[in-house]
Amino acid sequence: MKIVVCIKQVPDTKGGVKINPDGTLDRGSMLAIMNPDDKAGLEAALRLKDQYGAEVTVLTMGLPKAADVLREAIAMGADKGILVTDRVLGGADTWATSTTIAGALRNLEYDLVITGRQAIDGDTAQVGPQIAEHLGLPVISYAQDIKIDGDKVIVQRQYDDRYHVLEAKMPCLITALSELNDPRYMTPGGIFDACEAEITTWGRADLKDVEDCNLGLAGSPTKIAKASDKVRKGAGEKIVADSPEDGVNYIIGKFKEKHVI
Ligand SMILES: Cc1cc2nc3c(=O)[nH]c(=O)nc-3n(C[C@H](O)[C@H](O)[C@H](O)COP(=O)(O)OP(=O)(O)OC[C@H]3O[C@@H](n4cnc5c(N)ncnc54)[C@H](O)[C@@H]3O)c2cc1C
Repeated sequence: MKIVVCIKQVPDTKGGVKINPDGTLDRGSMLAIMNPDDKAGLEAALRLKDQYGAEVTVLTMGLPKAADVLREAIAMGADKGILVTDRVLGGADTWATSTTIAGALRNLEYDLVITGRQAIDGDTAQVGPQIAEHLGLPVISYAQDIKIDGDKVIVQRQYDDRYHVLEAKMPCLITALSELNDPRYMTPGGIFDACEAEITTWGRADLKDVEDCNLGLAGSPTKIAKASDKVRKGAGEKIVADSPEDGVNYIIGKFKEKHVI
């Protein structure tokens, strides 16, 4: 079985967010981590490999430093890493991102493509299903459990406070939830292998059946009008009133003072 896991390097938002004047994230200057849902997707692939035997390839699109998440994945047990990086792919929205990743996947053989449900920076949860659409693959999203039965996947799809059991014929695409599992740690041997591992690097020229008009910032229908880091407000004012009425009157007074009402 051949599994490809799409992993995204995302800013570790705990360290604060830096924005470029054009509204895109200044990814080069921020600490970066593997997107949590993608790590669960990778762990799911590694468990299928342990159980059924599989070759696990990890693929990321991003700046050259995104190779770091591929090495982390190899240190966890992935077999191969592919970095898709090219200046013309920069500033991509979800349409351009999914077009790029689909163009890369067309060079690969796979039975299963796993993406995260959502990236913690863009937060759109659009790329996974979009990749499936580009490649004409069945897609099951919000996976909280994955099993293989011959040429089919059996997936528990999270749905509010319950789940649906869905099956799809392979090849297909699954989007993974971080609730799916507790990802394993990198092993010392794995870290050593990851340092030695050769990362395959692809650029625009290696993408199959994609048009320039659908790539990068220029090929992105979504234009970010303005992006800003949320302003951290000071602590609110604590009111101790003798009675609820007094409290309400005090708040109304404040609203009037601030011309809210
Ligand atoms: C604050 C902010 C708001 C944004 N809003 C929008 C918007 O409204 N519309 C829009 O089109 N774009 C938007 N973008 C741009 C968007 O983040 C990028 O297009 C991004 O590459 C993909 O979207 P996402 O982060 O929402 O990913 P999601 O759709 O949430 O990602 C789902 C999964 O797809 C895979 N994946 C996503 N990106 C990559 C990658 N580069 N490499 C490998 N796998 C990947 C991962 O497995 C990931 O878990 C926004 C970006 C930011 C920072």
